[in-house]
Amino acid sequence: MAAKKGGKPAPKGGAAPKKKKSGKPIHTLYENGKAKNLSCPKCGPGIFLAAHKDRASCGKCGYMEKK
Ligand SMILES: [Zn+2]
Repeated sequence: MAAKKGGKPAPKGGAAPKKKKSGKPIHTLYENGKAKNLSCPKCGPGIFLAAHKDRASCGKCGYMEKK
C-alpha cells in the first residue's frame, strides 16, 4: 500500500479575491457643502473648472475664467 500524499487540489478558477467596493468619496468635490471648483458655464454642472493660481479653466472646452 503506497502511502499517497494527498496533493493539493488544483485551484479551480472562479474564486476571485474579494475587492473592496469603494465609490468616489464625494468630499473630494465638495468642501463644507460648497463646490470646491467652479463648474464650467459651457459644459454645464458636473464639469468643473481646474483651479489655478489666478484663473480657472475648463479642460474640456478650454473655457477660462480670470479671478
Ligand atoms: Zn467647459
